[in-house]
Amino acid sequence: MNVLNKNIDIAEVVRNDIEHHFHPFTDHKAFHAEGGPRVMTQAEGVYIWDGKGNKILDAMSGLWCVNVGYGRKELAEAAYRQMLDLPYYNTFFKTTTVPTTELAAKISSVMPDRFKHIFFTNSGSESNDTIVRFVRHYWKLKGKPYRQHFIARVRGYHGSTMVAANLGGFQGMHEQVGTEFPGFHHVQQPHWFDFGGDKTPEEFGLEAAAALENKILEVGPDNVAAFIGEPVQGAGGVIIPPSTYWPEVERICRKYGILIISDEVICGFGRTGNWWGFETMGFSPDIVPMAKGLSSGYLPIGAVAFADHLIKDFFELGGEFYHGMTYAGHPVSCAVALRNIEIIQQEKLVERARELGPYFAAALASLRDHPIVGETRSVGLIGAIEISNDKAKRGRFAKPGRVGSMCRDNCIRNGLIMRACWDTMVLSPPLVISRQEIDKIVQLARVALDATYAEVKAEVA
Ligand SMILES: *Cc1c(COP(=O)(O)O)cnc(C)c1O
Repeated sequence: MNVLNKNIDIAEVVRNDIEHHFHPFTDHKAFHAEGGPRVMTQAEGVYIWDGKGNKILDAMSGLWCVNVGYGRKELAEAAYRQMLDLPYYNTFFKTTTVPTTELAAKISSVMPDRFKHIFFTNSGSESNDTIVRFVRHYWKLKGKPYRQHFIARVRGYHGSTMVAANLGGFQGMHEQVGTEFPGFHHVQQPHWFDFGGDKTPEEFGLEAAAALENKILEVGPDNVAAFIGEPVQGAGGVIIPPSTYWPEVERICRKYGILIISDEVICGFGRTGNWWGFETMGFSPDIVPMAKGLSSGYLPIGAVAFADHLIKDFFELGGEFYHGMTYAGHPVSCAVALRNIEIIQQEKLVERARELGPYFAAALASLRDHPIVGETRSVGLIGAIEISNDKAKRGRFAKPGRVGSMCRDNCIRNGLIMRACWDTMVLSPPLVISRQEIDKIVQLARVALDATYAEVKAEVA
């Protein structure tokens, strides 16, 4: 591999980026003050290289996507072959392509039996937009047009289109979308570290679920269309709910006839040690949006799996669903996603995530003796490290996110990518990671935590 980037003029890349590229999720003023972007040029396995030739261990799989790791020739070849055969055709108006059908059948084959029908999109956001469109229309078809409200969680992340941002529970995003859409409600997240107080995690899990029931009663049970949640909240800070939470949420939703949407955009495709996060958390959803791990990020694609009981009604009641994207079921994305799932199966990466889970958990737990680590937690190969100024009381440093950002910057300086969600450091490494590479993450994380602790102490002194 050309890790020296001999043929790339990095200064020109940076200049073009500053002058012409308008970035998503970026503080533009700070970006320009700090001299522009970090340029990533190559990747292999769990490592990426930047334009300066630095080798960085990517403990985030890009943005929670690259489950099979970087540098997979099989995926490049699948795209190349499909582009030669049929680079594009649409799936509107009763038309299909070969890889679209193969992928739909493949996704269905790794899901519980009741999920036989897959709708394709290009992203997780579009998958969740699709679901809101489907569910609202569905309840109208069923003669219950009043069931239009969605309940989600604070700091749930469901994407960044207008609908997905409303569905999500990020206050900063809500403020910027201008008008909050009617019919979207948010309830407390099952985050014991911050909100559990003196309760046991199990008691707190039931309390967090009760917040959902209270909201249902407030909105009116007949008005609620669906509840959406990530089995493990990702961008909200890898919130792994207490074991009591999801079964109780499911009981409450069933009691009031409310559909359950399990947002598997991060948890799907092995991340938690099963194919789906709902299997790990022990509940049975009706609708499953997915993206990210579906193609391991090699090409953009998203999908929604609908349970048979919904599909049956939808098909029987009839009429056209006035919804679809030009690239829905794109043959090249589908061919790559199909090959990606085959790799996950052939290399038993779901089993691998399950087997490595306890090792990963123990490795993270070895950081608990650190003066600013308040908790570590993980399930499968997704985990978090809570930064705390008072370990016994689960205290937080002033200005949420400030110390987390310091730690993230120290990680990158040190050759590790860990993301900061406020003061929670989160990890989601490729499922192909080795035990040695997990040890390496923890070793690099400790150096970054030490540097962060030193900076915090220097501030006080
Ligand atoms: C990333 C993410 C989305 C949005 O997916 P995009 O492909 O970025 O639109 C939705 N839900 C969850 C849980 C996610 O992590």
